[in-house]
This record gives sequence, C-alpha cells and structure tokens, in this order.
Amino acid sequence: MSNIEPLEQKVYLSSPTMHGEELKYVQEAYETNWMSTVGANIDAIESEIASYVGVNHAVALSSGTAALHLAVKLAGVKPGDEVLCSDMTFSATVNPVVYEGGVPVFVDSEYETWNMSPEALEKTFELHPNAKAVMVAHLYGTPARIQEIADIAHAHGAVLIEDAAESLGATVDGKQTGSFGDIAAISFNGNKIITGSSGGMLLTNSEAQADKARKWSTQSREAAPWYQHEELGYNYRMSNVIAGVIRGQLLHLEEHIAQKKAITERYAEGLKDLPVTVMPVGARFIAPVRPNHWLTCLLIDPDSMCPQVRGDHDYLYASEPGKSCPQQILDAIAAINAEGRPIWKPMHLQPYYRNHAFVTAQGDGRAQTNAYIAGTATDVGADVFQRGLCLPSDNKMTPDQQDRIIEVIRSCFE
Ligand SMILES: *Cc1c(COP(=O)(O)O)cnc(C)c1O
Repeated sequence: MSNIEPLEQKVYLSSPTMHGEELKYVQEAYETNWMSTVGANIDAIESEIASYVGVNHAVALSSGTAALHLAVKLAGVKPGDEVLCSDMTFSATVNPVVYEGGVPVFVDSEYETWNMSPEALEKTFELHPNAKAVMVAHLYGTPARIQEIADIAHAHGAVLIEDAAESLGATVDGKQTGSFGDIAAISFNGNKIITGSSGGMLLTNSEAQADKARKWSTQSREAAPWYQHEELGYNYRMSNVIAGVIRGQLLHLEEHIAQKKAITERYAEGLKDLPVTVMPVGARFIAPVRPNHWLTCLLIDPDSMCPQVRGDHDYLYASEPGKSCPQQILDAIAAINAEGRPIWKPMHLQPYYRNHAFVTAQGDGRAQTNAYIAGTATDVGADVFQRGLCLPSDNKMTPDQQDRIIEVIRSCFE
C-alpha cells in the first residue's frame, strides 16, 4: 500500500448536517414552552411528511424502531405468527416482530438491489403459506422491487410493512418508498439522510390505524376524566423539540440527496477500472428508480477477492497483489481517518436468530449457514456480506477528501 496522508478532519460514514432553520423551530418550541410531546412542530411535520411521501397519515414517534413496533401491532401479528422479513438489513427491522411474539422467517436478497428477492419471497410463501405479514427494507436508500413484493404479499393475504428508515426520498416510478406498504416506518436517527437527532414516523393511509398508533404511543389513555386504560400502552410519542429539528431538516432533504448522489458518482468514476461494482449504480431497474444514495457501497468481483475470514468478533485476511477484500479496505480507510463499515450482517447469520428459517430463491436456505462457516455459502446475503462494504458517504465530505479515499481504495488493489 502506498503512503497516503491522513485526513485532517475525520470523514464519517454518514453524520448529521444542520442548516440553521432547525434552530428557529426549536426556539419557537422553547419560547412558547411547548417543550413536550404536544405542539405545533409535531402537527406541522406530520402533515409535511405525509404530503411529501404521499400517504394520508404520518404519526410522529420517538424512533423508527417504535414505528416498526406499532406497525407490527397494527398488522395484527400475534404470538406464533410468522412474518417474512428482509434478511440483509439492520436488526431494528426484525426485532419488533419478536417484541410481539411473532416469528421472523428470513428471505434472501437479490444481487440487483441487495434487497428482498421477489423470487425468494414466492418460495418462502410456498414453505410458509400462513405468514401474517411481510417486512421489507430498502437497504442503504435503494428501493427494493417493491411493487412485485407488494403484489406477492397481497396475493397471499399478508400485510405489507415497509421499512423505509434508510430510504426517505427514494422513489420508484415517481412514487415514494413508504407509500407502497399497508403500513410503513421512517427514521430520523442521527445517521439517516435527515435527522431530528432521533425520531421516527409511522405512515398509513388508514385514519383508524393512525388513530390507534397515536393512542398506543401516548400510553393508551381512553377518553375519560381519569387515566383509564383498556389496552397496553407505550411512551413512543415524538418530542416537539425533535419535531422542530426535523422541520428544519426537511427543507434540505432534496439537497442532501443531490449531494449523496454526487458522492456515488464520484466513487463510480474514480473506481471504474477496478474489479468492483459501485452501488447503487448497479441496481436493477435504475431508470424508473431514484435511490436516495444514503450510503454508497462497493462489491468486489469474486475473482479479485483476497482470502478473508470473519469470526463472531474478529477477522483475518491475507493481502495479495491485484486483489483486496472489505476488511483490508476498511482498515486502509480507517488509517487515513475515514469511516467505512461492513455490509449489515444478514439476520440468518446472527447468533440471536440462528433458530429461524431462512429461504433463498432455491428453497430452504438454512444449510447455507454451515456453508458460510465453511466458506462455501451460495446465498446472496452471505456473499454480499463477504465481498461488500459501505464507503464513507457523509454529505459534508469534500471532493478533495473523497479523492484521498478513492486513492486509498485503489492502493488496496495494487
Ligand atoms: C435506522 C434503522 C431503523 C431504526 O430506526 P431508529 O430510528 O434508529 O429506531 C430500522 N430499520 C433500518 C433499516 C434502519 O436503518
């Protein structure tokens, strides 16, 4: 590897970017003493997000995870019910199913979008015909083949929950992710494309569902003179202060998407003669699809992978001329003061979920777990985890900083 100067200022994977308007709305909340889970910012941001995404109702909550939890409840998932879930995703997609006693069944990904494979979903319904719901995530802001997935879910009488936590602003045929599901969730966590520092929303076209979610999120208080409780409640409502930050951020969502798209394009150009695919450039149906480019990722060609093994907490690789691997690139990036990350480790490889079914487009995929340990897995998720990585994608990264990162990645293949 060549000697490349470390960056003076650390470049993060994806960090909050404030603009100024956020403070104005927070100040209003402060000066009017609406420092609560009630207030004008909450009302405004709910209607602004609903109209931006194109759904009838948005319910402001404390996190995307809370939104997914209430979505699972609204879907009517009861203890023992199976829910067919994206396999390559963040654990917060799946954990809320377990909060309700549901049983996640993991559906393999496809190479084109890295999201749930509609073919594997069909196969999963053959093996698990009574599944109550489908939980699909749009990983890294690249839309899944969501219309096909919606059609398959509905043909099998399942409720479709869309985890659009990472994909706010991404569209398919001009329609926003988060508007295809029967219920959807978005997130305003600190690393997402816009942030409230935390926060999330549940999206639905049904007024009855929105009312239910609002009631559950505020401790399930009944309309009565005293605290009257007829069902289980939660403290999941968004703060009016957080809502103010999000109101200011929403004004800059399109700008963030444009900045992140430019980052993807700069990586694609700078790495174009390397044996890699830059995502989402390689995503299927890229024409009618607009990713939000939240994170730009890399997939190394199989023939250009140097040996790399991962245990539960550690890794080893052996560098070879002309070849590299994600852990080598991540080490090299970290050495110049920039932050990348491995691909989200698929759920079927997580020790916590080892007892759950996993289905690939070929059928039962659980044999793949042992194959993964032996290094011969053929499921898409394990392969993308092995060969892929997330690149520094912060929208404050300058072209000079990005060029330095590109130079480091190139040096790994020398
Ligand atoms: C961030 C994230 C969540 C959870 O959102 P929080 O607001 O952090 O609770 C859920 N699913 C995915 C895919 C995410 O990336």
